[in-house]
Amino acid sequence: MAKDYYGVLGLQKGASAEEVKKAYRRLSKELHPDKHKGGKDAEKRFKEVNEAYEVLSNPQKKQMYDQFGEAGVNGGAAGQGGFGGFDFSGAGGADAFSDLFEGFFGGGRRQAAARQEGNDLEVEIAIDLSEVVTGVRRDVRIRRNIACDRCGGNGAEPGTKLDTCGECGGTGQVTRTAQSFFGVIQQRTVCPRCRGSGKVPEKPCTKCDGEGRVASAEEVQVDVPPGIDDGQALRLRGQGEAGRRGATAGDLYVRVRVRPDDRFVREGADIRTVLDVPALDAILGATVDVETVQGNVSLKIPEGTQPGQVLRLKGKGLPVLNTSRFGDHFVTVNVKVPTRLGREERRILEEWRRARG
Ligand SMILES: [Zn+2]
Ligand SMILES: [Zn+2]
Repeated sequence: MAKDYYGVLGLQKGASAEEVKKAYRRLSKELHPDKHKGGKDAEKRFKEVNEAYEVLSNPQKKQMYDQFGEAGVNGGAAGQGGFGGFDFSGAGGADAFSDLFEGFFGGGRRQAAARQEGNDLEVEIAIDLSEVVTGVRRDVRIRRNIACDRCGGNGAEPGTKLDTCGECGGTGQVTRTAQSFFGVIQQRTVCPRCRGSGKVPEKPCTKCDGEGRVASAEEVQVDVPPGIDDGQALRLRGQGEAGRRGATAGDLYVRVRVRPDDRFVREGADIRTVLDVPALDAILGATVDVETVQGNVSLKIPEGTQPGQVLRLKGKGLPVLNTSRFGDHFVTVNVKVPTRLGREERRILEEWRRARG
């Protein structure tokens, strides 16, 4: 269930760092365990407030949370023992992978050892502006833990069964007494032996060592829809790391970078360019070819077009994400005045000037 960290602090979504700080100061005083001896509700609230503050007081985590919700800050936990997280050192040389992989989301490492669910992963891909027009399918190489094919993900050697965990009696949770800065706190935490599943394999699977998942590097097909903006991320549900012993897999976030294109300036779905127009074409009018993201189109320069005038090619911009609409292409006219005139040209223009009076 997603946590509303702003709500916990009594704030509106997206509240500023300053507001977060103020709310935290007030609430942490109000709910301090010293004032509520034995008050279970206050204690719970106090923990929630602290958790919310831990995320929202960190600019990077706050940004992740604002963008992706809780998954952004707690999803990327890297575990101990090589299973919970992704190990860069094992990437195996300079393959395409190292260019694509940006890294984990920050935070959440504290809880990693206790987590059952698979981590979220993030990769980055780069596409061209032309691919923004059409959308593009990419095969992205991902190294991650996938469900073990020997045990089917439950961690038990084929032919053996799963036993109830002795440590937690199958509840998946243990109660711990911890000495904290604010006094003794009783905490219910995920059972370290079964990590919350309540079951342990009678005989651990020999392939995955009872984890139910194994490291793998494989291609994942990513469909980038037309109209995507630079920096936007696609979420592929369940395509992150496999969960431990069959628990829910994490999500894969594919962040899309759009390579700049020297020919076009992008403003959302609109495109802007500057077009050199010979002075006489601006004066008399003309029809010219203009390069757009959708290919060449002809543009009518009206008679008497002024320097700096903006002409619109309707619907010749980029697709608007998740719609069938297109942006426009705006052409700013840069009138080019000839720097040298031939004798005949000069004669004609002088005559014209006299005629204009
Ligand atoms: Zn296995
Ligand atoms: Zn247990």
